[in-house]
Amino acid sequence: MDMYKNLIDALEKKREMLRKRVEKIEAGFRSVHSQDSEDRATESESDEVFQALDDVSRQEIQLIDDAIKRFENNQYGTCTACEGKIQIKRLEAIPYATMCIECASSAS
Ligand SMILES: [Zn+2]
Repeated sequence: MDMYKNLIDALEKKREMLRKRVEKIEAGFRSVHSQDSEDRATESESDEVFQALDDVSRQEIQLIDDAIKRFENNQYGTCTACEGKIQIKRLEAIPYATMCIECASSAS
């Protein structure tokens, strides 16, 4: 279990960072909209960029939440498909991986 602790700590830090990023994105989003801009094309273009960044960050926060939940339930590091152990090297690369490399590659 302890070997996962560092990964979970890192995930918690990352989640904190992502939350700050989402806040910043949303603050930026609001400031764009509060400006009385006449350049509508530029505005909707930056809307899309904000939206995309926001989505990516939120998705990642969700993945991290799930990983931390699995850790709390002693399921972290266990493949959700075959219930085998997920390789530690894989978890180091993708800390919120839910499948071992074999299942992940056969699923895709
Ligand atoms: Zn598996």
